[in-house]
Amino acid sequence: MSVDWSAEGDVKELQGLLVEAIKSYVAESPLNRLSKIDNTPIFEEPLVGFADGDDPLFDQYKKVVGEFHLTPRQALDAAVVTEMAAPDRLSVVSWILPIAGKTKQANREMTEGPSLRWNNSRFQGEEFNESLRRHVVSLLERRGYIAVAPMLASYFKVYDLPNGRASNWSERHAAYAAGHGTFSLTDGLITARGIAHRCGSVVVNAAFVPSPRPYSHHLEYCLGANGEKCLVCAGRCPADAIGPQGHDKLKCRELLFVKQQDWVKKPGYMGSYGGCGLCQTGVPCESGIPRRPQGGE
Ligand code: SF4
Ligand code: SF4
Repeated sequence: MSVDWSAEGDVKELQGLLVEAIKSYVAESPLNRLSKIDNTPIFEEPLVGFADGDDPLFDQYKKVVGEFHLTPRQALDAAVVTEMAAPDRLSVVSWILPIAGKTKQANREMTEGPSLRWNNSRFQGEEFNESLRRHVVSLLERRGYIAVAPMLASYFKVYDLPNGRASNWSERHAAYAAGHGTFSLTDGLITARGIAHRCGSVVVNAAFVPSPRPYSHHLEYCLGANGEKCLVCAGRCPADAIGPQGHDKLKCRELLFVKQQDWVKKPGYMGSYGGCGLCQTGVPCESGIPRRPQGGE
């Protein structure tokens, strides 16, 4: 599948082309491969969504995440070196990269830490995701737009807070705004392709049509957060970091970086920590939006 990026068209046509270009890159890039294992794809076909960069949700994130969390307008403005007039409209392009089925299967069988495939997908997958961010920025720039991937910008920063870490740009919050899905007790985002994914985004001074958000609150897709019997994720967590009240980021981090520190010394493992993901596999929300029991809404 190749996309003719030079084709003329209005912004709506460009939006459609961009979706195809992202899908095409995921399908064809040699970086989307578990090159140290069996060269199979790390991610399956992506979901692509769009948010209005001035959506009031982004102001709410300053209260939910922290005052330091940038709005798309701030994220674009901070990345532009030369003077530019404030754009009338701006958009956030957001994508979900679903983890390959074979990798989810391998992680389902684990109980104490990540499978080799999950670990390699965490690190090689994020390298691929970075290349996708650069690719999307480059495509938009070739059309004369100003675009930035906040996660790759020099201003991107992670803060250590009393209840765990938070950054000045959250890919999951961008994805929520772009209609991809809702949060869960684990803090992961449950999408139409489930919770086992990585996500990315780019901010651009284009007036793309925003994607609908087919949910009314930020925990709508999570069974356990809505009074249903579930919490399978809590039973899967070796750190006891998940409960009816949510996700204890400090306990999770201690498992990842202290208790599992030897995990990456296993043959074939890579990166600065194992990766875990046990709460994202072998759970009802792993690969789709979980169904509520019959009789529920
Ligand atoms: S396993 Fe159940 S409770 Fe846990 S995040 Fe998924 S839907 Fe929510
Ligand atoms: S909450 Fe953290 S430690 Fe627990 S299963 Fe999920 S990633 Fe692993």
